[in-house]
Amino acid sequence: MAGLTCANYLHRAGKSVLVLDAADAVGGRVRTDITPEGFRLDRGFQILLTRYPEVQRLMDYGALDLRAFESGAVIQLPTGRETTLINPLRQPLAAFEALTSPIGSLPDKLRIANLVRHVSKYTAGQLISRNSSNQEDTLTYLRRKGFSERIIDTFFRPFFGGVYLDRQLRTAANFFEFVFQQFVVGDAAVPNLGIQAIPEQLAARLPTGSVRLNSPVSAIDGTRVRLWTDEVLEAAAVVIATDGTAAQQLLPTQTLSAPTPTSEWRKTTCTYFAAPHSPGHGDKLLRLNAMPGALAHNVVFPSDAAPGYAPAGQTLVSVNTHGAHGLTEEDLLNRLRAELAAWFGPATAQWQHLRTYEITHALPAYPAGQPYRQSLRLADTLYQCGDYTAYPSLNAAMATGREVAEMLLV
Ligand SMILES: Cc1cc2nc3c(=O)[nH]c(=O)nc-3n(C[C@H](O)[C@H](O)[C@H](O)COP(=O)(O)OP(=O)(O)OC[C@H]3O[C@@H](n4cnc5c(N)ncnc54)[C@H](O)[C@@H]3O)c2cc1C
Repeated sequence: MAGLTCANYLHRAGKSVLVLDAADAVGGRVRTDITPEGFRLDRGFQILLTRYPEVQRLMDYGALDLRAFESGAVIQLPTGRETTLINPLRQPLAAFEALTSPIGSLPDKLRIANLVRHVSKYTAGQLISRNSSNQEDTLTYLRRKGFSERIIDTFFRPFFGGVYLDRQLRTAANFFEFVFQQFVVGDAAVPNLGIQAIPEQLAARLPTGSVRLNSPVSAIDGTRVRLWTDEVLEAAAVVIATDGTAAQQLLPTQTLSAPTPTSEWRKTTCTYFAAPHSPGHGDKLLRLNAMPGALAHNVVFPSDAAPGYAPAGQTLVSVNTHGAHGLTEEDLLNRLRAELAAWFGPATAQWQHLRTYEITHALPAYPAGQPYRQSLRLADTLYQCGDYTAYPSLNAAMATGREVAEMLLV
């Protein structure tokens, strides 16, 4: 997304661009596979927050045919009981009102309302760049704000732990404030034909021949780029738009003016099933699991919101497990099946396992104290962009891609 964004802005300004991608299709971490039966499997559950400023700036939402989930969640509590929250971040008092407080106390609810007011005072850019809030992690921040352990464990941990792929909530609090605001003001959506429609829209705007797939770069030397095939290409400027780990391998050591990107990655495993009926009854709500020790951290029915994800009459089920689980695929599947049967009933035995995606490099870790932005200009003719240079989000990939294009255009 960072590279395609950069190329889009340069092309718009009349510059000639060539995007080299090691993979067999565009999108990097934003990919969708289509099964022979016609299910669309995103490589990991991923959403577009529709008010991301950078995404709004460049993407044609109408052409993406975005389909939104409902704002809210059904939460399985540690007792095994379920509770439903509608619009918890937009109308916190109403959302939590009906409950005899299985989620949090009245002061917790007032604190959520205060948080909504607080983030509403700032732009998204101001929130993410607030130095004061990137000095502590999300858990420390929530505790300092006075939230009870109960609401942290039953709401913040399952919900934001799913966004960060980090249930310990060690992710920096400036990113929490940014994402919290995005959920307050916008929708969580996916394109009807899969998340890969997003990078494909950007690639389609570039001239034919300007995206070369299956073209891994092995070295960069000044303005010369060497491919694994030993072909050497020369350009006026080179932009590294890989992930952080690949960038570390490609960056010539003498140009390392930027701090070394963190090589710690957040992991996730996405297990897909086909179900004959939607256990969500079409409510388009996320299922969160607050049960300690569970492996099914959240469950989503993407085809309830976006029917294009499943063939007619079928439901796609996406079960997500964050972090390292240390199990074989078969053991994980068996454990998930047992949890899903307890959660959604015996009909889950009929669910057909489609595929499991183990994503070891999902999000770059974004711990407290990390600078909000790395230097994007590494040398006169060498630049970097991508989420690893800022924070773990599509918005960051696109923001840094645009900023590099602007530097090249002055
Ligand atoms: C499971 C999952 C869930 C996510 N959920 C969300 C979400 O809900 N919301 C959100 O905003 N973000 C989410 N993200 C994060 C988001 O997808 C990323 O932040 C964003 O896609 C990063 O884009 P990028 O361009 O920086 O890097 P990448 O997508 O990693 O792209 C790097 C590109 O570099 C190419 N490359 C690597 N090495 C070489 C080489 N040597 N030569 C040539 N090409 C090379 C790769 O093929 C790839 O195309 C999620 C990510 C995952 C994996």
